[in-house]
Order: sequence, then structure tokens, then C-alpha cells
Amino acid sequence: MSLHIHVEKNLNRNAAARGMLAATFGLVADSPTTVTTGCGLTVAYAMTSAQPEKVTCLPCRDHAARWHLAAATDMGRLAPGEGFTSRDLHAVAMHHHEQARRFGG
Ligand SMILES: [Zn+2]
Repeated sequence: MSLHIHVEKNLNRNAAARGMLAATFGLVADSPTTVTTGCGLTVAYAMTSAQPEKVTCLPCRDHAARWHLAAATDMGRLAPGEGFTSRDLHAVAMHHHEQARRFGG
């Protein structure tokens, strides 16, 4: 088997967004059949993962690490409010930093 596991180009459906933000905004996305990957391919959704230990495509790992760092930075710019405390935002930012580290960023 030489098939790689990729990451979705837009990682919005990953754990932090889903678990912490989706509950507030009611954003529950259906899993699409195919997705665009971080390395620019179109693959079956089942060939992607948001879990660092499962992603074997190196360009996708780089993409995911950068994506998580950018997401952490974005969290740092948000102000508490709309149901979020600064502690919530900090927890999400820490999650993104941890994910970035695990993706090798
Ligand atoms: Zn890839």
C-alpha cells in the first residue's frame, strides 16, 4: 500500500472547532464524499484525517502544522464574548499549538 493519508485543506471540521465551537454555533457539517487536500489533491474523505499520527503525506503534514499555527494566532486576536470566555479561547489556541507541534511544525 502506497496510499497516503492526507489532511483536508480546510481543517474546520477538526476536533477543537467541532467540540468547542460547533456546540455554540450549531455548525455540524456533513462529511463530504471527496475533499481537497492540503497538498492540492482531490481524494475520498475517508483518505483524510485530522489526527497527526494518521497523516502520512508530508506536504499535508506541513500544511496542517501551518494551518494550526495560523488558527492559534487567530484565536489570540479574538476577544471574549458571544459565549466565549478568554479561558475558552486560550484552551482552543493551546489545542492548535499542540496539534501544530504533533504535525511537526
Ligand atoms: Zn497530501
